[in-house]
Amino acid sequence: MRENRGGKYHSLVYARPCSVHVDPIEKKPFYHVLLGKTALSLGLPGCNLQCKFCQNWEISQVRPEQVRTFAATAESIVALAKEQGSPTVACTYSEPTVWAEYVFDLAAAARKAGLRALMVSNGFIQPEPMADLIGVLGAVKVDLKAFSETFYRDTCRGKLAPVLDTLRLLRKKNMWTEIVVLVIPGLNDHEAEIRALARFVKTDLGPDVPVHFTRFYPSYRLQNVPATPVKTLTRIRDIARGEGLDFVYVGNVPGHPGNNTVCPGCGKVVIRRVDMAVVKLDLKAGACAHCGRAIPGIWS
Ligand code: SF4
Repeated sequence: MRENRGGKYHSLVYARPCSVHVDPIEKKPFYHVLLGKTALSLGLPGCNLQCKFCQNWEISQVRPEQVRTFAATAESIVALAKEQGSPTVACTYSEPTVWAEYVFDLAAAARKAGLRALMVSNGFIQPEPMADLIGVLGAVKVDLKAFSETFYRDTCRGKLAPVLDTLRLLRKKNMWTEIVVLVIPGLNDHEAEIRALARFVKTDLGPDVPVHFTRFYPSYRLQNVPATPVKTLTRIRDIARGEGLDFVYVGNVPGHPGNNTVCPGCGKVVIRRVDMAVVKLDLKAGACAHCGRAIPGIWS
């Protein structure tokens, strides 16, 4: 996505998205950010990982000239979001880290226009550019692929430790962050690994960071692995909650009780969802309508 032109490091994809779409914000997924609203979502070619399960490999694992893109300034994307009634702009689909300069300009333009910019990332980024982005972003979702260096090396060609550092940095800077773990049967669903992941979130980030465990379906180079059994996701949710996490979700299973937000104070459902749709809301001014406990998030 970059080349050396006469000694200058040059981005080949700056301001050239290949995918633009209006999505529900819950699809990113953010479950504690502007419920029921939409995100003007865009992606550019490229990624810094090579996950064998990538669902967007047609744009993430190619060279820029292999994808059809179009020119779009940050300001034009923000104008489009306003036209579509989306209060957020989401950098997603591939990996925004490889087009970080555009993410920064988009986020700055969104902020200037009164919108929030969201980054959906694998978290495999150096602390300096992440710190710059934190200054302009509105919320970040990080895909934590597994809690094992072996998995990162063999399945994603990456490293776990820098991702954990990114999560710690986001928390330290008070950036609203949600975590997604795609649960792949036999590869990252072992009880000890899930317990270690939950303990890391609780102790290094805080029990109130939402963690979404989502269902895997065969894709890209993992066609030979079956879809995640729902009972595995239910078990993992129970483990993570048992380790003391307050907001543990099950994704890609519409109608599962893990789609709902449960108040950690009284145990009642405050946000009832069917997959990406909010169907009942017992949240008043950011607090549980039953017991008054504050539910963390960006609600307005
Ligand atoms: S980080 Fe995301 S976009 Fe990149 S290869 Fe992995 S799944 Fe695909």
